[in-house]
Amino acid sequence: MKLPAVSARFFPFAVLIASIAFVACTTTVPETGRRQVNFMDPREEAALGFSEFKKMKAEKAISKDASLNSQVQRVGLRLSKVMPVPNAEWEFVVFEDSSPNAFALPGGKVGVHTGIFQITKDDAGLAAVIGHEVAHVVARHSGERMSQNAVAGAVVAGAGYALNRDGGNGALPTAALGAGALIATRSFSRGQELEADRMGALFMARAGYDPKESVELWKRFGAWRTANSQGGSGPQFLSTHPLDERRISELQQYMPEALAEYKRS
Ligand SMILES: [Zn+2]
Repeated sequence: MKLPAVSARFFPFAVLIASIAFVACTTTVPETGRRQVNFMDPREEAALGFSEFKKMKAEKAISKDASLNSQVQRVGLRLSKVMPVPNAEWEFVVFEDSSPNAFALPGGKVGVHTGIFQITKDDAGLAAVIGHEVAHVVARHSGERMSQNAVAGAVVAGAGYALNRDGGNGALPTAALGAGALIATRSFSRGQELEADRMGALFMARAGYDPKESVELWKRFGAWRTANSQGGSGPQFLSTHPLDERRISELQQYMPEALAEYKRS
Protein backbone atom coordinates (compact mmCIF):
# COMPACT_ATOMS: atom_id res chain seq x y z
CA MET A 1 0.00 0.00 0.00
CA LYS A 2 1.32 3.41 -0.96
CA LEU A 3 1.67 5.83 1.92
CA PRO A 4 0.18 9.28 1.37
CA ALA A 5 2.81 11.95 0.81
CA VAL A 6 2.08 13.73 4.08
CA SER A 7 2.69 10.62 6.21
CA ALA A 8 5.86 9.85 4.32
CA ARG A 9 7.23 13.30 5.06
CA PHE A 10 6.34 13.43 8.72
CA PHE A 11 7.06 9.83 9.54
CA PRO A 12 10.87 10.01 9.95
CA PHE A 13 10.54 13.02 12.25
CA ALA A 14 7.95 11.28 14.39
CA VAL A 15 10.01 8.12 14.58
CA LEU A 16 13.05 10.12 15.62
CA ILE A 17 11.19 11.83 18.47
CA ALA A 18 9.53 8.65 19.60
CA SER A 19 12.82 6.73 19.49
CA ILE A 20 14.61 9.34 21.58
CA ALA A 21 11.76 9.20 24.09
CA PHE A 22 11.80 5.43 24.30
CA VAL A 23 15.56 5.10 24.59
CA ALA A 24 16.05 7.89 27.10
CA CYS A 25 13.02 7.44 29.28
CA THR A 26 11.95 3.85 29.63
CA THR A 27 11.56 2.39 33.07
CA THR A 28 10.24 -0.90 34.46
CA VAL A 29 6.97 -1.29 36.37
CA PRO A 30 7.51 -3.12 39.69
CA GLU A 31 5.82 -6.54 40.03
CA THR A 32 4.75 -6.85 36.39
CA GLY A 33 8.12 -6.04 34.77
CA ARG A 34 6.42 -4.13 31.96
CA ARG A 35 8.56 -1.49 30.25
CA GLN A 36 7.00 1.96 30.15
CA VAL A 37 7.92 5.38 28.79
CA ASN A 38 8.18 7.93 31.58
CA PHE A 39 9.83 11.33 31.43
CA MET A 40 8.77 12.29 34.92
CA ASP A 41 11.22 12.40 37.79
CA PRO A 42 9.71 10.41 40.71
CA ARG A 43 10.64 13.25 43.09
CA GLU A 44 8.83 15.71 40.86
CA GLU A 45 5.81 13.39 40.75
CA ALA A 46 5.77 13.18 44.56
CA ALA A 47 6.03 16.98 44.87
CA LEU A 48 3.04 17.38 42.54
CA GLY A 49 1.12 14.81 44.60
CA PHE A 50 1.87 16.70 47.83
CA SER A 51 0.66 20.03 46.46
CA GLU A 52 -2.45 18.54 44.82
CA PHE A 53 -3.42 16.79 48.06
CA LYS A 54 -2.88 19.94 50.09
CA LYS A 55 -5.23 21.76 47.72
CA MET A 56 -7.86 18.99 48.02
CA LYS A 57 -7.73 19.05 51.81
CA ALA A 58 -8.29 22.81 51.75
CA GLU A 59 -11.20 22.55 49.32
CA LYS A 60 -13.05 19.40 50.37
CA ALA A 61 -14.85 18.60 53.63
CA ILE A 62 -12.95 16.10 55.76
CA SER A 63 -14.95 13.46 57.62
CA LYS A 64 -14.84 13.44 61.42
CA ASP A 65 -16.48 9.99 61.63
CA ALA A 66 -14.33 8.17 64.20
CA SER A 67 -15.06 4.65 63.04
CA LEU A 68 -14.46 5.34 59.32
CA ASN A 69 -11.27 7.23 60.12
CA SER A 70 -9.89 4.50 62.34
CA GLN A 71 -10.68 1.85 59.71
CA VAL A 72 -8.86 3.84 57.01
CA GLN A 73 -5.86 4.48 59.27
CA ARG A 74 -5.70 0.80 60.31
CA VAL A 75 -5.89 -0.55 56.74
CA GLY A 76 -3.69 2.23 55.37
CA LEU A 77 -0.94 1.57 57.88
CA ARG A 78 -0.83 -2.15 57.11
CA LEU A 79 -0.79 -1.55 53.36
CA SER A 80 1.77 1.27 53.50
CA LYS A 81 4.36 -1.19 54.82
CA VAL A 82 4.17 -3.32 51.67
CA MET A 83 3.54 -0.72 48.93
CA PRO A 84 6.78 0.61 47.42
CA VAL A 85 5.79 4.20 46.68
CA PRO A 86 8.82 6.39 45.87
CA ASN A 87 9.40 9.31 48.27
CA ALA A 88 6.30 8.41 50.26
CA GLU A 89 4.98 10.63 53.05
CA TRP A 90 1.92 8.51 53.77
CA GLU A 91 -1.36 10.20 54.55
CA PHE A 92 -4.87 8.69 54.50
CA VAL A 93 -7.80 11.11 54.60
CA VAL A 94 -11.55 10.41 54.60
CA PHE A 95 -13.43 13.03 52.58
CA GLU A 96 -17.09 13.81 53.20
CA ASP A 97 -18.44 12.89 49.78
CA SER A 98 -21.31 10.56 48.98
CA SER A 99 -19.89 9.38 45.64
CA PRO A 100 -18.28 5.94 45.95
CA ASN A 101 -14.74 6.97 45.13
CA ALA A 102 -11.14 6.79 46.30
CA PHE A 103 -7.85 7.97 44.87
CA ALA A 104 -4.10 7.92 45.49
CA LEU A 105 -1.56 10.53 44.46
CA PRO A 106 2.20 10.19 44.00
CA GLY A 107 4.04 10.56 47.30
CA GLY A 108 1.60 8.30 49.19
CA LYS A 109 -1.37 10.63 49.55
CA VAL A 110 -4.63 8.68 49.68
CA GLY A 111 -8.19 10.02 49.74
CA VAL A 112 -11.24 7.88 50.53
CA HIS A 113 -14.80 9.16 50.10
CA THR A 114 -17.39 8.38 52.77
CA GLY A 115 -19.61 7.09 49.92
CA ILE A 116 -17.33 4.14 49.18
CA PHE A 117 -17.84 2.35 52.51
CA GLN A 118 -21.26 1.08 51.43
CA ILE A 119 -19.38 -0.97 48.82
CA THR A 120 -16.08 -1.80 50.56
CA LYS A 121 -18.03 -3.20 53.56
CA ASP A 122 -15.01 -4.41 55.58
CA ASP A 123 -11.23 -4.00 55.97
CA ALA A 124 -10.44 -6.41 53.12
CA GLY A 125 -12.78 -4.57 50.74
CA LEU A 126 -11.18 -1.25 51.67
CA ALA A 127 -7.72 -2.80 51.27
CA ALA A 128 -8.69 -3.89 47.75
CA VAL A 129 -9.68 -0.31 46.83
CA ILE A 130 -6.64 1.36 48.41
CA GLY A 131 -4.31 -1.34 47.04
CA HIS A 132 -5.67 -0.78 43.54
CA GLU A 133 -5.42 3.02 43.74
CA VAL A 134 -1.90 2.99 45.16
CA ALA A 135 -0.89 0.43 42.52
CA HIS A 136 -1.53 3.17 39.93
CA VAL A 137 1.01 5.28 41.84
CA VAL A 138 3.58 2.48 42.26
CA ALA A 139 3.33 1.77 38.53
CA ARG A 140 3.59 5.53 37.90
CA HIS A 141 0.61 5.46 35.56
CA SER A 142 0.00 9.25 35.69
CA GLY A 143 3.57 10.01 34.66
CA GLU A 144 3.29 7.40 31.94
CA ARG A 145 0.12 9.01 30.59
CA MET A 146 1.67 12.47 30.72
CA SER A 147 4.72 11.16 28.88
CA GLN A 148 2.56 9.47 26.26
CA ASN A 149 0.64 12.72 25.78
CA ALA A 150 3.91 14.60 25.39
CA VAL A 151 5.17 12.12 22.78
CA ALA A 152 1.85 12.32 20.92
CA GLY A 153 2.01 16.13 21.11
CA ALA A 154 5.60 16.12 19.88
CA VAL A 155 4.64 13.91 16.97
CA VAL A 156 1.79 16.28 16.09
CA ALA A 157 4.17 19.25 16.39
CA GLY A 158 6.64 17.36 14.23
CA ALA A 159 3.96 16.76 11.65
CA GLY A 160 3.10 20.45 11.66
CA TYR A 161 6.75 21.31 11.25
CA ALA A 162 7.22 18.85 8.40
CA LEU A 163 4.13 20.14 6.69
CA ASN A 164 5.60 23.63 7.07
CA ARG A 165 2.20 24.92 8.10
CA ASP A 166 2.91 26.60 11.39
CA GLY A 167 6.40 27.77 10.42
CA GLY A 168 8.10 29.22 13.50
CA ASN A 169 5.43 27.90 15.82
CA GLY A 170 6.91 24.42 16.12
CA ALA A 171 7.30 24.57 19.90
CA LEU A 172 7.18 21.17 21.57
CA PRO A 173 4.29 20.81 23.98
CA THR A 174 6.35 20.97 27.16
CA ALA A 175 3.21 22.20 28.92
CA ALA A 176 1.99 18.61 28.75
CA LEU A 177 4.88 17.61 31.01
CA GLY A 178 4.42 20.38 33.56
CA ALA A 179 0.67 20.12 34.11
CA GLY A 180 0.35 19.35 37.81
CA ALA A 181 -3.39 18.75 37.60
CA LEU A 182 -2.80 15.78 35.35
CA ILE A 183 -1.03 13.97 38.16
CA ALA A 184 -4.41 13.65 39.85
CA THR A 185 -5.95 12.09 36.77
CA ARG A 186 -8.07 9.03 37.24
CA SER A 187 -8.40 8.44 33.57
CA PHE A 188 -6.19 5.44 33.03
CA SER A 189 -5.97 3.10 30.08
CA ARG A 190 -7.57 -0.30 30.19
CA GLY A 191 -4.14 -1.96 30.36
CA GLN A 192 -3.19 0.26 33.30
CA GLU A 193 -6.43 -0.67 35.08
CA LEU A 194 -5.75 -4.39 34.72
CA GLU A 195 -2.16 -3.86 35.85
CA ALA A 196 -3.39 -1.97 38.94
CA ASP A 197 -5.85 -4.80 39.70
CA ARG A 198 -3.06 -7.35 39.60
CA MET A 199 -0.65 -5.29 41.70
CA GLY A 200 -3.37 -4.26 44.14
CA ALA A 201 -4.22 -7.92 44.79
CA LEU A 202 -0.55 -8.60 45.54
CA PHE A 203 -0.31 -5.65 47.93
CA MET A 204 -3.42 -6.57 49.90
CA ALA A 205 -2.23 -10.18 50.12
CA ARG A 206 1.16 -9.11 51.48
CA ALA A 207 -0.60 -6.92 54.04
CA GLY A 208 -2.49 -10.01 55.26
CA TYR A 209 -5.86 -9.50 53.52
CA ASP A 210 -7.41 -12.31 51.49
CA PRO A 211 -6.92 -11.21 47.85
CA LYS A 212 -10.07 -13.11 46.79
CA GLU A 213 -11.95 -10.27 48.48
CA SER A 214 -10.84 -7.99 45.62
CA VAL A 215 -12.96 -10.07 43.22
CA GLU A 216 -15.92 -9.77 45.61
CA LEU A 217 -15.37 -6.01 45.83
CA TRP A 218 -15.54 -5.54 42.05
CA LYS A 219 -18.67 -7.68 41.94
CA ARG A 220 -20.25 -5.44 44.59
CA PHE A 221 -19.26 -2.40 42.51
CA GLY A 222 -20.94 -3.98 39.51
CA ALA A 223 -24.12 -4.65 41.48
CA TRP A 224 -24.11 -1.11 42.87
CA ARG A 225 -23.73 0.34 39.40
CA THR A 226 -26.59 -1.74 38.04
CA ALA A 227 -28.79 -0.54 40.92
CA ASN A 228 -27.74 3.10 40.44
CA SER A 229 -27.48 3.31 36.66
CA GLN A 230 -30.04 6.10 36.21
CA GLY A 231 -29.21 9.78 36.46
CA GLY A 232 -26.58 10.47 33.81
CA SER A 233 -23.45 11.74 35.55
CA GLY A 234 -22.22 8.63 37.29
CA PRO A 235 -19.49 8.72 39.93
CA GLN A 236 -16.03 9.19 38.51
CA PHE A 237 -14.65 6.00 40.03
CA LEU A 238 -17.22 3.97 38.16
CA SER A 239 -16.90 5.84 34.89
CA THR A 240 -13.14 5.26 34.92
CA HIS A 241 -13.28 1.68 36.17
CA PRO A 242 -15.02 -0.54 33.67
CA LEU A 243 -16.71 -3.40 35.44
CA ASP A 244 -17.21 -6.24 33.11
CA GLU A 245 -16.67 -9.95 32.91
CA ARG A 246 -13.22 -9.53 31.45
CA ARG A 247 -12.02 -7.50 34.40
CA ILE A 248 -13.28 -10.05 36.91
CA SER A 249 -11.91 -12.99 34.91
CA GLU A 250 -8.47 -11.37 34.53
CA LEU A 251 -8.39 -10.68 38.25
CA GLN A 252 -9.27 -14.31 38.93
CA GLN A 253 -6.32 -15.36 36.78
CA TYR A 254 -3.99 -13.40 39.08
CA MET A 255 -5.35 -15.10 42.19
CA PRO A 256 -2.89 -18.01 42.42
CA GLU A 257 0.00 -15.51 42.39
CA ALA A 258 -1.69 -13.32 45.03
CA LEU A 259 -2.80 -16.27 47.19
CA ALA A 260 0.80 -17.52 47.32
CA GLU A 261 1.75 -14.13 48.80
CA TYR A 262 -1.21 -14.26 51.20
CA LYS A 263 -0.01 -17.59 52.60
CA ARG A 264 3.42 -16.11 53.21
CA SER A 265 2.10 -12.97 54.91
ZN1 LIG B 1 -7.94 2.26 38.58
